[in-house]
Amino acid sequence: MLTTEQLYGLTNSHTVLIAGEADTIRLVPTAAEAYLYMQDAAAQVGIHMAIASGFRSFARQRLIWNKKFNGETPLYTIHGDLLNTEQLAVGEIVEAILTWSALPGASRHHWGTDFDLYDPTAFADGQRRLQLVPAEYEDGGPCYKLHQWLQQHARDYGFFFPYARYQGGVAAEPWHLSYAPLALPCQNAIDIDTLKDLLATQTIAGQAYVLDQLTEIKHRYIDTICLPELTASDTWFG
Ligand SMILES: [Zn+2]
Repeated sequence: MLTTEQLYGLTNSHTVLIAGEADTIRLVPTAAEAYLYMQDAAAQVGIHMAIASGFRSFARQRLIWNKKFNGETPLYTIHGDLLNTEQLAVGEIVEAILTWSALPGASRHHWGTDFDLYDPTAFADGQRRLQLVPAEYEDGGPCYKLHQWLQQHARDYGFFFPYARYQGGVAAEPWHLSYAPLALPCQNAIDIDTLKDLLATQTIAGQAYVLDQLTEIKHRYIDTICLPELTASDTWFG
């Protein structure tokens, strides 16, 4: 199990670099190993994958959070419509951020078990840039073939899609995979009092509101995920 510092993204000491990926990409060793097996199996049938984002620190998540809160990066509704931050109440801003980005300290990317995946061949010519939007993973999109393959085979390597469907909290993220044998224990280990203490000492924008609403935020955006569908033949879960 991870230490408290590792679980909440205060250190990357639980993660390693991954052969063949960008030198900013880190995962916990067992997830990295499972990923490489999966990548190899996919390559044998002509499906290619690369990680856009793996481990992310508390500091990095806070930067993303604060920029959105302060209107430096755009905020969107669940339908993808642009919001005007200046016209929103604090609660509306926090809700809009949490639809698309995790609360610092509560990102699954802190654990080193979760990552965002794309098809690098579709972007190799530099003509377009990966945006991590659902359309890229739907029929006709550059990552559609990869997503089809992952939906069939990712579970064989221990991976699942925690944001497969929108359930009233985090928007659907067809690019986000999670290594179940380690991520499920991490999720269970997230403790609201520890998170509250952390957010009280590490300042983030909207801190007072977040601390006040943390029980609701945890339920809606941290606890509510699409759990892996298991069959009797799945041994990695036991
Ligand atoms: Zn992600």
